[in-house]
Amino acid sequence: MEGCIFCKIVAGEIPSTKVYEDELVLAFMDIAPINHGHVLVIPKEHHTGSSSIPEDVAGRMFHVAARLGVAAKRELDYDGFNLHFADGASAGQVVMHAHLHMVPRGVEDGFHWNWRQLGYADGEAAGIAAKLAARLKL
Ligand code: 5GP
Ligand code: ZN
Repeated sequence: MEGCIFCKIVAGEIPSTKVYEDELVLAFMDIAPINHGHVLVIPKEHHTGSSSIPEDVAGRMFHVAARLGVAAKRELDYDGFNLHFADGASAGQVVMHAHLHMVPRGVEDGFHWNWRQLGYADGEAAGIAAKLAARLKL
């Protein structure tokens, strides 16, 4: 898509440090890593969000990211990794070409997700689950 940075990276018009490439996906080093070894896995075809990505491509993205996480543990001595996908500006998506982050993690790496824990009133979770299930089209 015209003007998309990640489409330009796929096309080789903008340089990137590639880690893996096949017919469906490209993995390259994030330019501003949370930890060294932070990789982005993207569909080669332009998709803005997650829901339009075909299942085989989405599956490949997850598979490659998970394997890269294992590689980061084995080769870079990390303890674990986060897979992170921001869908939409409200979720923190800045680059509007879908991408899955693989962020290698160390026990004391000083990075913390700002994760809060709300609760539900009686029956509230079941009502919300029913709405989601009714809309789900697979
Ligand atoms: P988002 O916040 O959209 O989930 O993440 C976008 C990511 O893309 C950020 O982590 C940012 O560092 C990375 N990024 C943005 N522009 C470039 C670029 O031109 N090259 C590379 N390699 N990464 C980029
Ligand atoms: Zn794009």
